[in-house]
Amino acid sequence: MSAPARTSAVRAVPASPIAGTRHRPLPIPSVRLVGGPLAAWQQRNGEATIPHCIEQLDVSGVLDNFRRLLGESDAEFRGLVFADSDLYKVIEAVAWEIARTRTRAFDSWLDDVIALVARVQEPSGYVDTWIQGVAPEKKFAALEWTHEMYVAGHLIQAAVALVRAAGRTDLLDVARRLADLLVERFGPGGEDGICGHPEIETALVELYRLTGERTYLDLASRMIDLRGHGLLPAGSLGAHYFQDHRPVRESTAAVGHAVRQLYLNAGVTDVFVETGDDSLLRAMDAQWNSAHDRKMYLSGAFGSRHRDEAFGDDYELPSERAYAETCATVADLLWTWRMLLADGGAGTARYAETIEREVHNALAAAVDATGTRFFYANPLQQRRDHHSEENAPRERAPWYVCACCPPNIARTVAQLSAYVATVTDGALWLHQLADAEIDLPAELGTGTVRTVTGYPADGRVEIRVEGDVVPGAELSVRIPGWSPRSTLVGPDGPRECDGDGYARAPLEPGARYVLDLDLTPRLTTAHHRVDALRGAVAVERGPVVYCVEQADLDAPLDVDDLAVLPPAPITVGERDTLVLRCRVINAADGLYGPDTATEFGDEHTVTAIPFSTWGNRAPGPMRVWLPRAPR
Ligand SMILES: [Zn+2]
Repeated sequence: MSAPARTSAVRAVPASPIAGTRHRPLPIPSVRLVGGPLAAWQQRNGEATIPHCIEQLDVSGVLDNFRRLLGESDAEFRGLVFADSDLYKVIEAVAWEIARTRTRAFDSWLDDVIALVARVQEPSGYVDTWIQGVAPEKKFAALEWTHEMYVAGHLIQAAVALVRAAGRTDLLDVARRLADLLVERFGPGGEDGICGHPEIETALVELYRLTGERTYLDLASRMIDLRGHGLLPAGSLGAHYFQDHRPVRESTAAVGHAVRQLYLNAGVTDVFVETGDDSLLRAMDAQWNSAHDRKMYLSGAFGSRHRDEAFGDDYELPSERAYAETCATVADLLWTWRMLLADGGAGTARYAETIEREVHNALAAAVDATGTRFFYANPLQQRRDHHSEENAPRERAPWYVCACCPPNIARTVAQLSAYVATVTDGALWLHQLADAEIDLPAELGTGTVRTVTGYPADGRVEIRVEGDVVPGAELSVRIPGWSPRSTLVGPDGPRECDGDGYARAPLEPGARYVLDLDLTPRLTTAHHRVDALRGAVAVERGPVVYCVEQADLDAPLDVDDLAVLPPAPITVGERDTLVLRCRVINAADGLYGPDTATEFGDEHTVTAIPFSTWGNRAPGPMRVWLPRAPR
């Protein structure tokens, strides 16, 4: 069963299709974020977040859960049934950090933890410390909640990343033994089994991509075919909680637990890419529209319900009760990128712009300025008396009992440069505008494209083509939907945005282009069916969503009594802040009253800050959406 790794095809990039896709990803080492907020974030991720996560694996007991099985720890099992996945996600983060920086700083840690996992692995290939140490009788016996295949999926993804990033195969040996066990037990001709928490599907496709071993792809396909036929005992949360309510090809709405739905969709899209099964892409197109046209928060977050960590109904998007789990944004980024590679129906620009919204807002807000405190839930409003809940505290926390989110941020930030650009036949595409160096893939030449910009604070993007380029090559640059009249200006004049959201110019040695984006702050409203946001506006500038935080208001101004005066010009203040003109809403008598017009009082100027930076001072009220005042 074990074919040798096809090292010639190994590329240091997550989601590396081997079937021919129109868009092909570029390896992480060839796309370097060199300046601006994304580069600073990656540096903080490598220097603070990843070391913090490594420390927390000891503090939280994750590593002791392995050691106790070897008689090397007296500790009781700690954490939730899927605690092992925290370790695997941190290993994956380290792998992409190695791809990015060639760091050797984590080598000895990797030696230790990979050896630990290998020693805990049973001769059969099985490894899962909760099952092995706490409930061996549950092995593959309660797939609806044990998360065994979810954990296996993260082990496989970490192993694939380590091979691609560092050429290191020791964890791959462990992962393949486990994957082979899954194939033997649940593959064609075996038991019907699917996991309550999707994740294994995308991992198995990636393992197939790395090894060329078709049985892994077949198992992923089989698990997708089996979902939606009631294999999992539904329990009180209902079958839609884990997307077992309807066959995947008939599921046109994003429902149930948001992270599960979005991870599943990443796997389904991967299987489509490698098999060409159009019925899967049709379902994914419908799902993508469901999630992004009717269920996404302005920040690029998902999940309006704390109960079940679930998507709400269409247009059910309350700000202060937003669950908006960090992992759901990570999962959607991974899925949306796969939809871009798969050339899905929403179009390349829409996928790229969604990823941009997620990266600069929901994902950036989930981690604090030190890189060591994290939000699990990411509401768009916090009230003065906001109560803390386990996964929705008032302030970012250093870790969680359910610690899925912090390592997910770490692995995503380490791989951010993978989402900046792609290559199609004869063209380099710039999807994300960032200060970066991009080495051309061999098919386009040996040169480098250098993008110089202070984006998103500054709307000027200069693009220089340096070195050799093959004749006839083209450059495609995304023009964001909020700046549609911007042009790509080169030596032969301006080039307007094509209908697909990209402007095109020759990719020629020595060429220099300038894109000037319109960063005029703008007011945004929501669809009229979003009752929670009716009559309210949000402020955006470029891809950045703003909020007003009580910390910026002088007493007696209260963020919950402010209304924005449109269309008064919004000016740009210091350090990415905006200055809004607002009126105070005069307090009404009582909770309810006659239908008379709201009364407005004095006018004030109010500072708004990027939503991504809120909560870095004392905890307190914040809101993205504010009522609109009459002119
Ligand atoms: Zn999470």
